[in-house]
Amino acid sequence: MTTTAPTETEDPPETAAEIARHQLDRAASHIDVDPGVVERLKHPKSVHQVSIPVERDSGEMEIFTGYRAHHDSARGPFKGGLRYHPGVTQEECVGLSMWMTWKCAVMDIPFGGGKGGVVADPKGLSEKENERLTRRLAEELRDVIGPMRDIPAPDMGTNAQTMAWFMDAYSMQEGESHPGVVTGKPPVIGGSYGREEAPGRSTAIITREALDYYGKDVEETTVAIQGFGSVGANAARLLDELGANVVAVADVEGAIRDPDGLDTRDVLSHEEEPGMVSGYDAPDNLSNADLLELDVDVVIPAAIGNVLTVDNADNIQADFIVEGANGPTTTRADEIFAEREIPVIPDILANAGGVTVSYFEWLQDINRRAWTLEEVNEELEDEMLSAWNDVRGAYNAYDDVTWREAAYIVGLTRVAKAHEVRGLWP
Ligand code: NAD
Repeated sequence: MTTTAPTETEDPPETAAEIARHQLDRAASHIDVDPGVVERLKHPKSVHQVSIPVERDSGEMEIFTGYRAHHDSARGPFKGGLRYHPGVTQEECVGLSMWMTWKCAVMDIPFGGGKGGVVADPKGLSEKENERLTRRLAEELRDVIGPMRDIPAPDMGTNAQTMAWFMDAYSMQEGESHPGVVTGKPPVIGGSYGREEAPGRSTAIITREALDYYGKDVEETTVAIQGFGSVGANAARLLDELGANVVAVADVEGAIRDPDGLDTRDVLSHEEEPGMVSGYDAPDNLSNADLLELDVDVVIPAAIGNVLTVDNADNIQADFIVEGANGPTTTRADEIFAEREIPVIPDILANAGGVTVSYFEWLQDINRRAWTLEEVNEELEDEMLSAWNDVRGAYNAYDDVTWREAAYIVGLTRVAKAHEVRGLWP
């Protein structure tokens, strides 16, 4: 069989795991790190595949396939989302679990990287079927998860209710209540205030700091945001509060623009009211793709992966890109932005508020003491500034690195150090 090499006008096809390994190699080339540790980090510690029998409402049984990838736990228990999506693959879970390792290390929180998923379309499941699937998944994974082993969280297709079922099933089997087995739960059973807004909040905080680094005043900044869900809407509203001019936002159905600035609280998020973004009465309507190419100071992709590609990288007019979504920039687009000297502030820093408040939630669960929203937001601000300072330090210290490489250098240095001091066993 012959394969066609990708042309200059195509992004080479890459899996999440291939992208993650490529990024690891680039970071490792800048620092003095044991090649054995780098090689080790290219592989997950383990990947668990489970078959999940679920009784459909019709009475028939269907078997779903689930995965849980454990990338690295040198710095603490595995941590990462659990997604329900028809496109879930083992390779995707491995790649995403690697990103979680770096994200936790960049934030200097004591977790490693994990990720899991079930090959299922949650829209095709009734609520009861979804509950049965989740409870049986918790049982199938019981030996490899736990508050000190691996702590799942919501991701695509899962939410606070999914986490509540998962926690209940695990606790029932263990014979005692274990709120710390998952994060992203409803506050009434040990979830944290501020968890939902956290990745959007951190994206806004990091945008503010990046602007400040380049001598720009947030109050004189125009921003366009693709995706108006949990990350996008919260980032938009906080940036609006900080004084930025949010001129365009989009959901899956389209984008709206007001050159004088949108009232971001008046536009309902996709979660609040699907379709409300494109249906909003704004001066201009445009497509999702066109939003990314607007002449604004900052563009924030906060919807899905692989939206900044070789096809549009040369047309981007923004001075900065801040990644609210996970993996919105392809490797080739990243190289084009580096050539064009457009700073790309990476996902593993910008949206890391989500896992950081998950860590706060875990602390609250372990200690059996809830924090107020004010405490959560103050601690998040401190953690984000600390991580920003570390990444900025690496960006300044190393010649000719991108912000992504600087973040990877910070993360890899910490993970490699943990491996060195723990040593290889036996
Ligand atoms: P969400 O489902 O709440 O919102 C997604 C938004 O993107 C919606 O407005 C939707 O309409 C829009 N959208 C969907 N498909 C689109 C498309 N093809 N083009 C343009 N817009 C589209 O999701 P979210 O939780 O905000 O997650 C968004 C991104 O942020 C994902 O990449 C996710 O992995 C990442 N992320 C989420 C969290 C979290 O805790 N929620 C944390 C870190 C990173």
